[in-house]
Amino acid sequence: MKICRFDNNRLGVVEGDLVYDVSAALDFLPRCGYPLPQYDLLIANLPKVLELVDAARATASSKPLSQVSLLSPVANPGKIIAAPVNYQKHLKEVLGDPNLHHDNQISNIQRAGLFLKASSSLAGASEGVRLRKLERRNDHEVELAVVIGKQAKNVTRAHALDYVAGYCIGLDITIRGPEERSLRKSPDSYTVLGPWLVTSDEIRNPSSLGFSLRVNDEIRQQSNTSDLILGVPELIEFASSFYTLHPGDVIITGTPEGVGPLQPGDVMDADIEKIGSMRVNVHAAES
Ligand code: MN
Repeated sequence: MKICRFDNNRLGVVEGDLVYDVSAALDFLPRCGYPLPQYDLLIANLPKVLELVDAARATASSKPLSQVSLLSPVANPGKIIAAPVNYQKHLKEVLGDPNLHHDNQISNIQRAGLFLKASSSLAGASEGVRLRKLERRNDHEVELAVVIGKQAKNVTRAHALDYVAGYCIGLDITIRGPEERSLRKSPDSYTVLGPWLVTSDEIRNPSSLGFSLRVNDEIRQQSNTSDLILGVPELIEFASSFYTLHPGDVIITGTPEGVGPLQPGDVMDADIEKIGSMRVNVHAAES
């Protein structure tokens, strides 16, 4: 099932070119008071929500996909975990271009480990990217994004996929420069998730998904998740050995070769096999 958040926090199920409004399925979610839970409420209750979505779908009204505004399919991830240099050809590309690395940053993922992006950097496909620091290079990175479905601690790779709620496309927008990744990759709107969540029953094997990114209709990145150095099960094992993963936590798995600069006015089209495609407009941030 393809689940989206759209317009004014509506819940939708996507079928073909239509979005069915199944927001009624949200009514059973517990009302939260202070303090808020450390997990995303919708994802933590996803099995029950999906049952109710099925029930609501029969009488749901629909709208063309082209007429809705798509928000991030996860509203409140506790953390956004990111994998640096997780494709061999991208590692080579980085090592060959002084624009792309500084001495403190470059090494393979087994040495570099993972980093976190601010959850305030999250945006949906229709919200677009708002670039800051325009005097510096701002690059696109397209990545498979994994949404964790249940609490995970010290999970082995053999069981790791049992903890996945679903998948979406992730864009890890990056200001190049000497600072820590978490700073350069965390401005508002620098993590785009979308266009919707594809539940994990539709993607049994996340290790052979073709994907691409076009900018202004020119192909910039094209690869397959079979080229990941650490695949999805290994990333979950690695991450959950350092910290607890909660429902709604997002892992963006790393980008392949072909990263390149973005300018205000650009249009990105990202596509991942079995997920779909999303168009994301690039703007300048308001000063
Ligand atoms: Mn990245």
